Amino acid sequence: MIDFKSEAQDLFSYMQDLRRDFHRHPELGFQELRTAGIVARDLTELGLEVSTGIGKTGVVATLEGSQPGPVLLVRFDMDALPIQEETNAEYASQTPGVMHACGHDGHTAIGLTVAKMLNAHKDDLGGTVKFVFQPAEEGLGGAQAMVADGVLENPRPDRCLSLHLWNDKPFGWIGITPGPAMSASDRFTVMMSGRGGHGAAPHLTIDPVVAGAQVVTALQNIVSRDVDPLESAVVTVTSMRGGEAFNVIPEAVELRGTIRTFKPAIREVVLKRFGEIVSGVSNAMGCQADVDLQSITPAVINDPELAGQVLEVANAVYPQAEISTQERTMGSEDMAFMMDDIPGCYFFIGSADHERGLDAGHHHPKFDFNEDALITGAALMAAVVWDFLR
Ligand SMILES: [Zn+2]
Ligand SMILES: [Zn+2]
Repeated sequence: MIDFKSEAQDLFSYMQDLRRDFHRHPELGFQELRTAGIVARDLTELGLEVSTGIGKTGVVATLEGSQPGPVLLVRFDMDALPIQEETNAEYASQTPGVMHACGHDGHTAIGLTVAKMLNAHKDDLGGTVKFVFQPAEEGLGGAQAMVADGVLENPRPDRCLSLHLWNDKPFGWIGITPGPAMSASDRFTVMMSGRGGHGAAPHLTIDPVVAGAQVVTALQNIVSRDVDPLESAVVTVTSMRGGEAFNVIPEAVELRGTIRTFKPAIREVVLKRFGEIVSGVSNAMGCQADVDLQSITPAVINDPELAGQVLEVANAVYPQAEISTQERTMGSEDMAFMMDDIPGCYFFIGSADHERGLDAGHHHPKFDFNEDALITGAALMAAVVWDFLR
């Protein structure tokens, strides 16, 4: 095995400069033109065949080994979030209201470093590496857009890989979970209509505020009463809107929120009970409920065999690391759209540094991470690809 750990170490300043540059100039989903430009420039300099504008602002590059062999897709996301940065970092965002608060700046830097390392060893590689730099991971449909633009064809990947820097865990920790790793995400909007009127004459109205409150409470029974206690599910109402005045009962109330599940069978139960409870309780309260349920992403389910292979490589490259095979999160990730079609593995690289205060959670305005985790991510990804294609 090539010593990718020391090769990634040698490329640390390249990777750190890239990460900090992306961090200073974050771009929201489907607007990553500057980022994609740098990605395409560096990949072109390596001599790879580069395509831009895939899935609006995505970039795809292929690295051909010296012999025929399997095709491996490796994916890195590039987008930032609509958050005002509150770190005092020297490399803080220079764009008001936009911030790399999830670590995708790091992912993009890792991806370019992996391409650089593997390209240097391409004469010893069999097969093809398809580098995918994806836009708009944060709920805007970047993965679907790339799939629609044919990223899973010509050549069709045999396996796919991706990673996330993970501030829930400290630097030195690695998470590789066979089976379900991140949840499916569904989004709901419920419009509950009653009959408005004077706040002092509730008997002449059908009060959607009281009915909405009953629905919010009744929905809590799905997870506690309908889901097997050994399984996981979340039903969260995040928004309840209706009414403006202290003395007016409004015509309608709107509820919004999210549903998270790992297993298709559990998802089915939760969605079925969601509809029944909303319409049943609304009816009982005299309200009319219109439910709009939208599937956002399927669950990220790691192929057990590939996850086992990644685990083996991780143990070989990082024998001192704390490696977990149990990390699961109810967060969702649109890599699931690629993994739904192509067996894949999505793993986590611990990146928090409590001593230096680099431990705010993902999507927090103070989010930042230990940049040494970039080395871990690049070395492990390169080693896994190498192991698969050598
Ligand atoms: Zn995120
Ligand atoms: Zn993310």
